[in-house]
Amino acid sequence: MDHFSYRDGRYYAEDVSLETIAQAVGTPFYCYSTATLTRHYKVFSAHFTDIGAKVCYAVKANSNLAILNTLAKLGCGADVVSEGEIRLAIAAGIKPSDIVFSGVGKTATEMAYALEQDIFQFNVESAPEVELLNQVAVSKGKKANIAIRVNPDVDPKTHAKISTGMKETKFGVAIAHALPLYKLAAKLAGINVQGVSVHIGSQLTQLEPFQQAFARVRIFVDELRKEGFTISTLDLGGGLGIPYGEDEPPLPDSYAEIAKQETKGIGCQLVFEPGRVLVGNAGILVSRVIYVKKSETRNFVIVDAAMNDLIRPSLYGAYHHIVPVVAPAASVKPEAVDIVGPVCETGDIFAEQRMLQLPEAGDLLAFRSAGAYGASMSSTYNARPLVAEVMVNGSKYEVVRKRQTYDELLSRDYIPSW
Ligand SMILES: *Cc1c(COP(=O)(O)O)cnc(C)c1O
Repeated sequence: MDHFSYRDGRYYAEDVSLETIAQAVGTPFYCYSTATLTRHYKVFSAHFTDIGAKVCYAVKANSNLAILNTLAKLGCGADVVSEGEIRLAIAAGIKPSDIVFSGVGKTATEMAYALEQDIFQFNVESAPEVELLNQVAVSKGKKANIAIRVNPDVDPKTHAKISTGMKETKFGVAIAHALPLYKLAAKLAGINVQGVSVHIGSQLTQLEPFQQAFARVRIFVDELRKEGFTISTLDLGGGLGIPYGEDEPPLPDSYAEIAKQETKGIGCQLVFEPGRVLVGNAGILVSRVIYVKKSETRNFVIVDAAMNDLIRPSLYGAYHHIVPVVAPAASVKPEAVDIVGPVCETGDIFAEQRMLQLPEAGDLLAFRSAGAYGASMSSTYNARPLVAEVMVNGSKYEVVRKRQTYDELLSRDYIPSW
């Protein structure tokens, strides 16, 4: 459930008309709903309060400080993949003791920074990484708390570009090869081995892959304990999908049920790293139609947002529901339209042959479910300034990221002295 809806034929975010925001901040812009984000966090985390699990929001899904601060105030932690994300999480008010540091390519500088902040846990993904982390920790007189990210070789049955838990991907260490890495880590003076972590992919729409992965990890935890390791944390990752279009991913309650069933009596501090499921449907992208261009076979609706603002459709062929901000008369018949951006790439397409009531130049369209992997993956490709981001809370709204100006865009580069 989200708080974007029509009132008298006008599309609203909570109690604010999107036409009003468009007039004030221009287009395109992202719009986030505080009530939706709050609701999603509460629904998700409520299933785990009885077992005291940590919910660490995957910052890369949307790293706007306003989003992070809203979650921080609800008691949420953070799953980060870079020093920049640690800095954002802390600036937003997330406690370092609720921060998990994931990722295959942590640098020594990033490790040093994370150690200085005393974060909860590093999820380590290779032998060279654990050796470097040890060196950095020893040089700082610290001990790094680690879990090793294992790769359970489970097909998450999602898009290939967001599958991470199969043995062909760069992520984690195959369970079969993980025991030697635990033994190595245990010998290192700067390392405190505390747990196991797993994350098999994103936008999962079935429970079975989660179940398989959790079951394999559980067996592995038992094995580690038999070998004498103290395993006190178990990080089960993120990846729960959201309904973008036709697909009906499992709801958090059945996901929680599986997680609890597979970890019953394990005696670990459980950690979850949801990203998309918290923010995906809490955000939309609003764009204005520039032209309607009719060719022999197609109706092209050219909008002022493009693949640099929301790359999911061109990168993953992802579906976003597209709705008019001012509902046209019901008598207007839907026809097949192609919604495209101005970027000079054939792949700059938001929707192909979508059945819609043909909009006119100047109309506003809203791309739903754009809160996750939208703004955070945006770029300035084609020298297009980064768009504004707005957050709504009841009848109030505020700009939470200003539209980039052309001065800012141009001031990034330097002409060399020669
Ligand atoms: C991206 C990522 C997540 C979040 O994935 P969602 O699909 O957004 O829930 C969690 N953990 C790790 C390690 C990730 O890389």
